[in-house]
Amino acid sequence: METKENRNRQPIIPYGRQLIEEDDVNAVLSVLRSDWLTTGSKVNEFEDAVADYVGAEYAIAVSSGTAALHAAMFALGVGRRDEVIVSPMTFAATANCVLYQGATPVFADVEPDTLLIDPADVEKKINARTSAVIGVDFAGQPCDWDALRTIAKRHNLPLVDDGCHALGAEYKGQKIGTIADMTVFSFHPVKHITTGEGGVVTTNNADQAELLKRFRNHGIGADHHQRKAKGEWYYEMTSLGYNYRLTDFQCALGHSQLKKLPKFLERRNQIAKRYDAGFKDISGITTLARKRESIHAYHLYVISVESTETGIDRNDLYRDLTSHGIGTNVHYIPVYLHPFYRKSFGTKRGMCPDAETAFEKILSLPIHPAMTDGDVEKVINQVCRAVSIS
Ligand SMILES: *Cc1c(COP(=O)(O)O)cnc(C)c1O
Repeated sequence: METKENRNRQPIIPYGRQLIEEDDVNAVLSVLRSDWLTTGSKVNEFEDAVADYVGAEYAIAVSSGTAALHAAMFALGVGRRDEVIVSPMTFAATANCVLYQGATPVFADVEPDTLLIDPADVEKKINARTSAVIGVDFAGQPCDWDALRTIAKRHNLPLVDDGCHALGAEYKGQKIGTIADMTVFSFHPVKHITTGEGGVVTTNNADQAELLKRFRNHGIGADHHQRKAKGEWYYEMTSLGYNYRLTDFQCALGHSQLKKLPKFLERRNQIAKRYDAGFKDISGITTLARKRESIHAYHLYVISVESTETGIDRNDLYRDLTSHGIGTNVHYIPVYLHPFYRKSFGTKRGMCPDAETAFEKILSLPIHPAMTDGDVEKVINQVCRAVSIS
């Protein structure tokens, strides 16, 4: 209902959102009119397209990025008494997936200027129980994968890339998706492309791919030889799995979206460049450091507010921007500071000092392909105004 209040409310620019067009809608509708809503051909087509795009042998589609992380932990055989080293500067799911398998996440600090996991601290946290390392390509910038690979080799550990921010990013000329042993992407609406909810694991390892497929389908294998020998009705559940399947209409949406990914990435990069220029001369507003060897996917545009220079702190800026119709967010509260982690594992302040210091100052500004140039200018102008009138 149109009320005076609604009319006067300024449109909100969200920090992230999907861009769905008519052809995306039609792709979904055509599947809804077909015979196969799930476990049909659209799933394989989408998986092949994702694998092709990132240059991986296999892509296994699942119901969320979180399910993808869980499946990766299963496929690596992570279990009770194991430890997995993770970044604290991430969404809780990166650490929760370790707990789903009965193992313990161990947090390694981040590099203060990029907020990417610090390889030196990873190595310090490795012990006899360590069974994997998960790096997060924070904001869309790849981790220092060469350093992580060297450490992983030395200790004979598999590497998992939580690439949920980094679809389309490149590290030293190679797309994110094949650099770690397994890479996880999410298709949540704020990510680069969306299926509503959804995710994928990419790998070059056939055995891992088989385990991932079984895990998303209750632990039931698709062994056609067995079915031939014993009858088409026959199947075996050989491990405990889940229903983590992604539907055909979601895969059709994802496939349609994937075709637009280059365009989406270009727009994200344009917006980031404009922000870079807009904030260059504001003292007390800094952006994350960029590594020259990488191509950034700009899932997030994170600024850091130095209140001794700006006169306002991060929370003041958050409130100011919100009151002017600009949506921002804090990525992230270090995972181990959440009450659940403190209560269950006795984690506390001081564990990862660089992540904690950054957390107090960071703010993610709106960045997504549905933003107009006017939206971008509005954000820059309001940040400048908020800082200069303080
Ligand atoms: C979005 C995200 C996830 C979880 O993905 P969902 O699809 O929401 O389950 C995991 N890790 C990171 C870094 C993310 O940004």
